[in-house]
Amino acid sequence: MSFADLGLSPELLRAVTEAGYTEPTPIQAQAIPVVLAGKDVMGGAQTGTGKTAGFTLPLLQRLQPYASTSTSPAKHPVRALIIAPTRELAVQVHESVKTYSKYVPLRSTCIYGGVDMKAQVAELKRGIEIVVATPGRLLDHVEQKTILLQNVEFLILDEADRMLDMGFIPDIRRILALLPAKRQSLLFSATFSDEIKKLADTMLRQPQLIEVARRNAVSENITHLVHPVSSHVKRDLLADILNAGADGLGQTLVFVNTKFGCARLARHLQKEGISADAIHGDKSQLERSAALEAFKSGAIRVLVATDVAARGLDVDDLPYVVNFEIPGTPEDYVHRIGRTGRAGKQGAAVSLVAPEENYKLVAIEKLIKLKITQQEVPGYGPETTVEELRRYRNGHGRPRAQVAEDGFDFNRPYDSASELKPGSKPRPPRASSKPASKPQIAADGFDFSAPYVAKSAAADKAEASKAAAQEQAGGKQKSRVAFLLGGARKG
Ligand code: AMP
Repeated sequence: MSFADLGLSPELLRAVTEAGYTEPTPIQAQAIPVVLAGKDVMGGAQTGTGKTAGFTLPLLQRLQPYASTSTSPAKHPVRALIIAPTRELAVQVHESVKTYSKYVPLRSTCIYGGVDMKAQVAELKRGIEIVVATPGRLLDHVEQKTILLQNVEFLILDEADRMLDMGFIPDIRRILALLPAKRQSLLFSATFSDEIKKLADTMLRQPQLIEVARRNAVSENITHLVHPVSSHVKRDLLADILNAGADGLGQTLVFVNTKFGCARLARHLQKEGISADAIHGDKSQLERSAALEAFKSGAIRVLVATDVAARGLDVDDLPYVVNFEIPGTPEDYVHRIGRTGRAGKQGAAVSLVAPEENYKLVAIEKLIKLKITQQEVPGYGPETTVEELRRYRNGHGRPRAQVAEDGFDFNRPYDSASELKPGSKPRPPRASSKPASKPQIAADGFDFSAPYVAKSAAADKAEASKAAAQEQAGGKQKSRVAFLLGGARKG
């Protein structure tokens, strides 16, 4: 099926072609004709499915008769309202609106909180047909009478489940009360709780249900992996993971549970020489936009984010998502990892799970109906202390469990790139983490049982140049931690 088969206008088809889309995604194929027919829609779709174009393209076509090059504000009343839960998502949706409306003289703008209202007021005064907004700031404009909603004919509520999580439903109900009853409404949500269904009942009229993925389903393009690790050494493990991939790992989005932890972790990674930044609700809009842009452009490799800040982030070809902490609800796991494995591409979701978070992992596995492979990283056990890690790193200590009682051999060279590849057989999860009783030789030849001999700087240098020569001669040599996270994977 092509976009032309869906009945889109030549102007929109031109913009779609220029965007590089050759055929509609399933949600687009289903939603576009229904919206064009003027029906209300209850859409079950996560980000990454192409839902934004799925509602924006037919919306633009429905508005096309109003398109006008007149400079009179009266000729450009607000006719369509798109409400998104976060600034980032609103900006992203607006970007899509601009892209697809390139050849249709319809005006659009984006209004969100955290920035001065003046520029938004000036923009609204000019006359705007399509307003993309976050709920709070939209109500601010309503209160100040800088926006009039009596001509709104189209309402789109994006990511309704997140609106609910963020406590925006009362705001949404207030906004609904301000809109003309005669309108076309679309509601999109990744999940459908009873509350979302109640909201849909008041907002939609005989909606057509369009669902492209199983509720709470995760993309099959994503490989999941859990590293059991004590919370004391998580940040060290993360730095190792990211450094291990320096020779080939692509960009990584790291999730944390709190704003405070977000900034702190980004600073720690920077200290470890990793180009990282943080994005969370306490940062100014300017800082958030700058961090996001730097991440999107590849100028920074790691973005540490809270759930709210990362909602709806659309970064092309993001290969890795790391859950530094396990989210409070299993649904958030689905949202988080939905940042990778998008638009048919492969992705990997890696979670660092401390023993006290195990119950959350159980809930996630139940929701996504998948037992996630567990892979303990040498040196980083679920009970490892900072002191033990230090000794391990200095060569004095040994990994907690080189060979577990169940025979799981931590020394076996590990190629996480193939382990993370969908379809490849991961080695069996280990059953025990009791320390091994015998001395061990590590994968890189390091003998943990040998007495520690301090190396001279000269010896260190000689070893470094030997390693560099080996690497040149024999391709990629993996370090002890390089097995982490698919070091050979190209981003
Ligand atoms: P969304 O689910 O709307 O956030 O879109 C996810 C990504 O898919 C965005 O980067 C879009 O640009 C891209 N996309 C949307 N529709 C198509 C399509 N028909 N073909 C290829 N990519 C698309």
